[in-house]
Amino acid sequence: MRENVLFSSPSYKFTLTPTHIYFFSLQTPKLRRSRVRTKAMEVGGLDSKGREFKNAEEMWREQAGDPSKKCDWYKHGVGYWEGVEASVNGVLGGYAQVNEPDVEGSEAFLNTLLSERFPNSDHLAALDCGSGIGRVTKNLLIRYFNEVDLLEPVSHFLDAARENLGHTSSDKHKATNFFCMPLQEFTPDAGRYDVIWVQWCIGHLTDDDFVSFFNRAKAGLKPGGFFVLKENIARTGFVLDNEDRSITRSDSYFRELFQKCGLHIYQSKDQKGLPEELFAVKMYALTTDSPKRVHWTRSKVKANMPRIIK
Ligand code: SAH
Repeated sequence: MRENVLFSSPSYKFTLTPTHIYFFSLQTPKLRRSRVRTKAMEVGGLDSKGREFKNAEEMWREQAGDPSKKCDWYKHGVGYWEGVEASVNGVLGGYAQVNEPDVEGSEAFLNTLLSERFPNSDHLAALDCGSGIGRVTKNLLIRYFNEVDLLEPVSHFLDAARENLGHTSSDKHKATNFFCMPLQEFTPDAGRYDVIWVQWCIGHLTDDDFVSFFNRAKAGLKPGGFFVLKENIARTGFVLDNEDRSITRSDSYFRELFQKCGLHIYQSKDQKGLPEELFAVKMYALTTDSPKRVHWTRSKVKANMPRIIK
């Protein structure tokens, strides 16, 4: 077994020691498929220094358990990004080469969603959350949406976004509003957006703020509108990054939070083609209405029964 494996991702890096390997090996695929389901938040986690937490509650109590700790959590999060260069390489944690497969994967995902949910719309609006320098808007959203608003708490990123998007905007496709604000303080205008895109930034929000953000943001969706959440996925539990104060959650952790938000997974897809040493990345399309189930009428059930050929 290798002694030290470097695990990193756009925005998150940590070194995997033998303790981590032991910890991860506790969750075998067989165990995860077990019928006795453990609540994801009750599963332990790690930080980037190798410290183990019993569960998410213990970690959150320590990191953001009172108003001054919580204030520190967000100050350090934004503070980290304030020291990062306003470039594609900067917002992708030194992995500029991830931009291309990321945009391709997102485009394929978005394309099907738009044709299913808005086949005949002639005006679409999106919100790019934690937009950074406007990478996602510039390479993807601005081509599909007539208006895109950007939300980003780090002012030098938002200035770069304004600059970058000036050249790509046209009368029919433009970046309209630039909100310099963190997600946990933002409430969108009611019914403004067809899609709210949240990529590589939700790890900065505590669980409580995650839930209250999505609950407020739901009102910002048009009928039929949806969220796209694209994020790094931990294999189990969570991983806390002590440097940029963010957490990487597991798929089941996310699913528990979606349930708390009253959101349904309309579609989800794994991002392909990223360097192996990075965290897995998943895209979720989330709706407020529950996905339609196929109700078999009697005649359909009958029609599907094997028949005896007479
Ligand atoms: N989504 C962009 C940027 C990813 S980098 C892209 O994919 O290119 C992570 C971004 O999250 C940074 O721009 C950072 O400033 C932003 N961020 C950090 N804390 C945040 C918060 N509390 N609310 C919203 N965005 C935040």
